[in-house]
Order: sequence, then structure tokens, then C-alpha cells
Amino acid sequence: MSSSRPIAAFRRTKIIVTLGPATESEAMLETLLRGGADIVRLNMAHATHEWTRTTIQRIREISKRVEREVAIMMDIKGPEIRTGDLEHPIELKAGEVFDFTVKPGARAGEPNLEEVRSVDVNYKGLVKDIAVGDTVLVDNGLIQLEVLEKREAKIRCRVLVPGELKSRRHINLPGVTVNLPAFTEKDRRDTLVGIEEGIDFVALSFVRKADDVETLREFLREHNSSAQIIAKIEDQSAVANLEEIVRASDALMIARGDLGIECPLEELPIIQRRAGEICFNYGRPVIVATHMLESMIANPVPTRAEITDVANAVFERADCVMLSGETTIGKFPAECVEVLNRIAVRIEGLPSPIFLEPRYLDGDKVKLLQSAVQLANELDDCAILTFTRRGFMAAGLAAMRPHLAPIFAFTPSIQTLRQLRILRGVEPFFMQLDSDPDLTIGRAIGFLQREGRIKDGDKLVIATDILSANRLVDSVQLRTVK
Ligand code: PEP
Repeated sequence: MSSSRPIAAFRRTKIIVTLGPATESEAMLETLLRGGADIVRLNMAHATHEWTRTTIQRIREISKRVEREVAIMMDIKGPEIRTGDLEHPIELKAGEVFDFTVKPGARAGEPNLEEVRSVDVNYKGLVKDIAVGDTVLVDNGLIQLEVLEKREAKIRCRVLVPGELKSRRHINLPGVTVNLPAFTEKDRRDTLVGIEEGIDFVALSFVRKADDVETLREFLREHNSSAQIIAKIEDQSAVANLEEIVRASDALMIARGDLGIECPLEELPIIQRRAGEICFNYGRPVIVATHMLESMIANPVPTRAEITDVANAVFERADCVMLSGETTIGKFPAECVEVLNRIAVRIEGLPSPIFLEPRYLDGDKVKLLQSAVQLANELDDCAILTFTRRGFMAAGLAAMRPHLAPIFAFTPSIQTLRQLRILRGVEPFFMQLDSDPDLTIGRAIGFLQREGRIKDGDKLVIATDILSANRLVDSVQLRTVK
């Protein structure tokens, strides 16, 4: 079969969808996979183990049926501070004095002898870690308090921004180094389920330093898992240690939800841009997450600001954009994927900035991949072909950000194929590799012709090893499809 479709007509930026009540059904999952979702995210803050197992198995079955293997990301909760249970919500008033207690069992919501109302907090170290004058943010920053005083088992605060306090609300302490383990007991239990079910990525929440990533890496190693680690940066410690975190991780998620609470809001775009640049320089994939199409939870079309936000992530050459509430509880999950598709394809088609080299990628192989991408950038409508067992070749090519050429990556490993879904511009295919690289190349070209992805006269830049005098040698080749 031959096609008149230009090779460059495809989406490079990858789409991550978070599953929830709006999207967990077979029918909706199938729609999302067919619509172009590349990675499915399971948020363990809201998932039971039974749901997790059933859902992963369902995703795998549907992937087979629609012949599109997607990756599964398990997003583990990490250290999180929450308020305890309340019999009734408390209406906190501006100026009111209010206590957060670390001894469970105080009469939550009831005034004590000093006529001060209170709520329990699940973090024993709160009194020690916090300082007078610090800010306590509750429920995504909707309620704001200032610490007035520290007592033995409580902190006394004044309400600055009032609101209704409900049970088990998330607490942020901007700028406070919280002394909780990065990889909690719950995270361990969740990750074990994920490993048993063969997840492809683990996203670690509230990473503060490279050691946090190493702890998870050790755990995965001990349990023979080859899942890759995505570090979620969500607070000021992560921002301060960004470079070491990027180096320690397989990918980075800019978790703008918490980041936008933990850091001054005007810093958020600067952090996003800096994180993207650091990832680019170290050749690590980067995900821009949260509130990308927030208004589409309720509406069928995005706001103009959201369109521009998504477009900016694509301009910044992020590997992935991520949907959260839009696809967990939203009314228009399929439309959200379609909107991301449209924006990404349009922006990616614009002339690209000058060729930049990832600053900290080094070595002969990297130079060779760089020359492959430079060559592809000079040709009009061409594709880059590569063959990869563990994904390194494809990841190296994606790191150079080819302008228009897709990277067709052939792999004999189904897990590598799924993990390649995170990389900007990479389209992975499953294929056994022959011991003679030339046979493998011939089979790959034949496959792409049959699929209508390439046609006679198209140029292919092939980055692979070849047999020369019985030795495998790295090579870059330019071939014309015949
Ligand atoms: C975020 O805070 O932006 C995020 C992606 O994390 P979560 O959804 O786990 O809060």
C-alpha cells in the first residue's frame, strides 16, 4: 500500500490521561486509546488495589484489541499531610484563631477551654518543623493561615483567607522542609501491586532530592522491575535540587498543581521553563501536568488561555502534556484528547528554532545520533529509523528534538515499546531484530511501506549498528525508499 500522506503529518507531543470514574469503563478507555492517548496514569491517592489490578488488566486487553500498546504510569502518593476527620465541616472566619493538633483524639471542630477550634493533622513532626510566621495552606491553598505560636502538641494559627474546612483536606507548608519519608509504607504496598501487574512507569510524588529517587530505584531493582521512574517536582526543595533530581530520574513531571501552591505563583512559569531546559540538557523526557484544560471538566471547549498554555508547552518542546481532572471526573474526556491533538499538531508544524544540543549528553554514540538528527533536519520530508532493545538509541535521538522527522523505533521488547511512548517524536513498533542488521532494516522498511507510513522516493535516515568484517559498528545511513 502506498500513501500520499507526508511523513511529517503526525503528532510528536505525547498525551497522558489520568483514569477515574469518567474514563475507567471499557468503552471510554477504547475511545481514549483510539483517540491517541499514549500513557494512562493511575493516581494511587484515590485507587484501591482491586481497582488498580482490574484497570491495568483492562487497559492491556483493550491495547491488544485496538493494536496500540500504551504505557501505564502508577502515580504513588508520596508523603502527604492531611487534616483528620470532622463530624461537620468548619466555617473558618477571617482573623479567627485556629489550632492544628498532632495528638489524635482532640475533639475536632469543638472549641477547647480557650475557645479555640481545632483539627487533627496526620503529621507528628508538624510542631518541630514549622516556624512562627510560616504559612499553612489547606485544600489546594483555598484556606490560608499564619502560624502564631507553637505549643507542645499543636500549632496555633490565625486565618488569613477564610473558607470551609472539610474532612481529610490536603495541607501544604510552603518553604518548610517536611521530615517525612519520600517513599512511604503505602507507596511500597502500591508499587508492589504495580510491579506484579507490569506497570511501565512509577511517578514519585514530592521528590525533594536525588536520594528519594534512589530509594525507589533500589526498591524496583530488589523486585526485578524495569519500570522507569518519573520524578514529580512539587515543592521548593525539588526546585532547589532540580539538577540532581533530573540526573537521578528517567523522566520529570512538572506537577503544577502542588508546585503552584508551594511556590509563589509568579515563579511557576519560570520553574516550568527552567525544568524543561534542564531536562533537555540531560536528555530526560519532561511532562507538563495539571490544569491544561481544566475548564473542559465542565465545558466542551477550552478557554483561550488554556489553548495558549498547551501551545506553550509544545513550543517549549515538552515530551508530554497531561490531563488529570479533565479525564478523571470531566464531562468531555475524549474531546480533551482531541483538543490536545489539534493544538500539538498545529504548533509542531511551525518552523523550529535553531538546532540546540543537549549540553550534558556526551560520547561518540551521542555525536553520531546528533549527526543523524542534523541530517534529517536538512532533508524535506524524511523519517529517522532506529532499532533499540532497551530504548537508549530512540531516547538519544528524541533528546536532539528533530524538527519534523518522526523517529520510527523498532524494538523486540513490549515493555520498551510502551516506555518509548513517553518520548517526543518517537513512534514505536514491535519487531524481532535479526542478527544481521541489514535484514532487520529491510523488514522495517517493508513494514512501514505496507502501513502506508513511507512511500517510494522518501528519504530515511537510519541510525543503527551494521556488520562490518563480522563486527558490529555504529552507523548513520541515508537511504531512499524504492
Ligand atoms: C500536581 O500536583 O500537579 C500533580 C500532578 O500531582 P497530584 O495530582 O498527585 O496532586
